[in-house]
Amino acid sequence: MDAAPTLTHCPYCSLQCGMGLRRTGAGLDVVPREDFEVNRGALCGKGQSATALLGAGRLTSPLVRDGRGGLVAAGWDEALDRIARGLAAAQEGYGRDAVGVFGGGGLTNEKAYALGKFARIVLRTSQIDYNGRFCMSSAAAAGNRAFGMDRGLPFPLADIPRSGCVILVGSNPADTMPPALRYFTELRANGGKLIVIDPRRTRTAEQADLHLAPRPGSDLALALGLLHLVVAQGRTDEEFIAARTTGWEETRAAVMAHWPEHVERTTGVPVPQLRETVRLFCEAQSSMVLTARGPEQQAKGVDTVGAWINLCLATGRMGRPYSGYGCLTGQGNGQGGREHGQKADQLPGYRLLTDPEARRHVAGVWGVEPDELPGPGRSAYELLDALGTEVRALLLMGSNPVVSAPRAAHVEGRLRSLDFLAVADVVLSETAALADVVLPVTQWAEETGTMTSLEGRVLLRRRAIDPPEGVRGDLDVLHGLAQRLAPGREKGFPTAPEEVFEELRRASAGGKADYSGISYGQIAAEGGVFWPCPQGSAGTPRLFLDRFATPDGRARFAPVTDRPAAEETDARYPVWLTTGRVLAQYQSGAQTRRIAELNEAAPGPYVQLHPELAARVGVADGEPVAVLSRRGRAVAPARVSRDIRPDTVFMPFHWAGEGRANTLTNPALDPVSRMPEFKVCAVRLEAAGAS
Ligand code: SF4
Repeated sequence: MDAAPTLTHCPYCSLQCGMGLRRTGAGLDVVPREDFEVNRGALCGKGQSATALLGAGRLTSPLVRDGRGGLVAAGWDEALDRIARGLAAAQEGYGRDAVGVFGGGGLTNEKAYALGKFARIVLRTSQIDYNGRFCMSSAAAAGNRAFGMDRGLPFPLADIPRSGCVILVGSNPADTMPPALRYFTELRANGGKLIVIDPRRTRTAEQADLHLAPRPGSDLALALGLLHLVVAQGRTDEEFIAARTTGWEETRAAVMAHWPEHVERTTGVPVPQLRETVRLFCEAQSSMVLTARGPEQQAKGVDTVGAWINLCLATGRMGRPYSGYGCLTGQGNGQGGREHGQKADQLPGYRLLTDPEARRHVAGVWGVEPDELPGPGRSAYELLDALGTEVRALLLMGSNPVVSAPRAAHVEGRLRSLDFLAVADVVLSETAALADVVLPVTQWAEETGTMTSLEGRVLLRRRAIDPPEGVRGDLDVLHGLAQRLAPGREKGFPTAPEEVFEELRRASAGGKADYSGISYGQIAAEGGVFWPCPQGSAGTPRLFLDRFATPDGRARFAPVTDRPAAEETDARYPVWLTTGRVLAQYQSGAQTRRIAELNEAAPGPYVQLHPELAARVGVADGEPVAVLSRRGRAVAPARVSRDIRPDTVFMPFHWAGEGRANTLTNPALDPVSRMPEFKVCAVRLEAAGAS
């Protein structure tokens, strides 16, 4: 009889689909896992092929830069010694903040927690942030501002089919998380309406009852225009506004300046479509707005999300079953990754680093004095931009900014200018290839740890196979470095994930992201636990039903008004560029580009453009087209399609080389979330001739 499969979760996106792993000789097979309600056994191609990650192009030995500039194999002691020397030298020469730490939204909660602690009590640097800053930080900031708390979805995915109308803003789950599409299919089967807002007619938009295609960067104007119509048509919920919110009058006044006709000119969405959206949204008994990176990755991302939250508040859609605002986050642990201290301004439990009580509590758990903890540091892009100048050495875990950061050629140059770079990764990513020392670390099926999904559900990934010889866990790396850099403090860096989780529970106790009532055993028994989960609680699947997490329990309207994108089109750069993901690749592609079947399905970048634009540029389908922005030039084959606005081009961002989309993107930052403006910039196109 076959041994029971190890029950675990997919290594990729925030849906964290459940899967089983069954041993087959020396390897593992993925088997469906029906018991996990989120995906009920369904997996996309990435999940189905995930075990190939365990072999494909794997690093199995530390690498160190030799005298001739090449990377050569080395032992673990030599590699860790060199990292300790490199980091210490930068701090001796330039001060504690001359060392930066850059984490990732794919790291388990245990690793994210340990990395934040390592930065603050071993390196004692303020310079730590993570690539999740590029993921949902705008939604997080807007949620905190409005509700006093940020959890991606304040309700389970299973609530979606029970809603009457869902507006999906800048999200394409058909390509990014296909098993989640069933929630929207069921919504429609139940008679609910799906409205998709996207400049492209994506595979998700094809299934919508109504597709609005605003120009990139105009989602804020669109939300304001819809709320204007809600007010003008008398569709506000005055009882809810009076009982559960503050700030409505100021917001109402701000919204009334955004006339539908003006919004039509700004967004390109016809007024009748605006009216129909309001009708469907308001006539449903319950309705939701779900945003993703489209409206969030903008230099006005916080206000844009705030405007969509305003729409939900004004219509009384928050704090009711099957209604409300939620964010569909992207990275596997984008949610948990920021709750436990990787973010530049936060301590575990979603506490602010500037809060004296939070500092006292966390310092007590860590066995240090509160004033030993540094203050807030630079956000992710600002940290990358400071490399080689104020920040001279960097320790990077689980991220590939050479491909995924905005203005990527500049970021690559900053990484090259460092005195010292250490990278811990599974594969030799484009960023790892620049490092002075590369550490080969365990992944997913080779280790145990918790992940927090887009629902705020804390899940347990289980070790199903031993890592290859020569590979160690990130927790071992931090223990080894602590031993070298601050002898004695390594005792605070256990290498057993459950031991780290037990400390994380104590550190998070009383914080907004309170995990103190969660244990590995409870997760295993229940398949996942929703935070907040204080001691004695069973978890909280639905938030805000009785009160919001603000001091007075009321949600706050944000009186936002429209403003242009950080970079507008002009005569020299007359076309909008927007970027995104494709079905068979994930994030920077460091993992998925190594899987043969995924690579075959999505072998390289492309430029999607409308036939009218293609004719003006003089390119035919499949011909190379150059896309130029104020930051650089990228070249990829044209994909001519009527599924995109004639004034907009789309590029997926998973690749390095001449088709690297992020060479073009704009690092202009949102003033609150410090989110770069990935989703909109001005470009021009040129036929690039046959390559
Ligand atoms: Fe994995 Fe996301 Fe695909 Fe699910 S949807 S199998 S979590 S990549």
